[in-house]
Amino acid sequence: MKRIALFPGSFDPFTKGHEDIVLRGLRLFDEIVIGIGRNAHKDRYFPLDQMIRLIEGAFANEPAVRVISYDGLTAHVAKEVGARFLLRGLRNTTDFEYENGISQVNRYVYEGVETVFLITSPHLAPISSSIIRDLHRYGQHVNEFLPYPLDDLHLVK
Ligand code: ADP
Repeated sequence: MKRIALFPGSFDPFTKGHEDIVLRGLRLFDEIVIGIGRNAHKDRYFPLDQMIRLIEGAFANEPAVRVISYDGLTAHVAKEVGARFLLRGLRNTTDFEYENGISQVNRYVYEGVETVFLITSPHLAPISSSIIRDLHRYGQHVNEFLPYPLDDLHLVK
């Protein structure tokens, strides 16, 4: 049976920290589905369609990785794509507190689904999507934190 993992997140934007989790996850799983959760109550900074294309570009040479977006419960989506595993990254104890609750809920919704946590690589631990958004908003270059060039990204807002 193929070992498929769903890597869920907002990915606003997808960073080198996320890329590292995917690349290391590929040693554990046959296929990784990167799932961008859409939140009706939260506007994105980096438009969804463009982020999907950029992530696909970053993994163009990696046939075991694909990208989807979804509404609703992560656990339902995992079941739909045939993933018995959820993949998440842990940077610090704040991440742990949050992830602990989420993973219990996911197992409640989808019995048997296991969340696999990878501890962040130390040099990537300080990278967070929210810091990158702030830097970008005020005109700072952020390419060094991203696994794709942002140059041709035209923000809608
Ligand atoms: P969410 O909004 O669901 O927290 P994110 O897109 O912020 O989604 O993050 C998705 C996952 O990637 C989370 O498990 C988060 O802890 C992890 N992550 C975020 N940044 C890094 C990083 N620099 N290194 C490793 N994991 C990270």
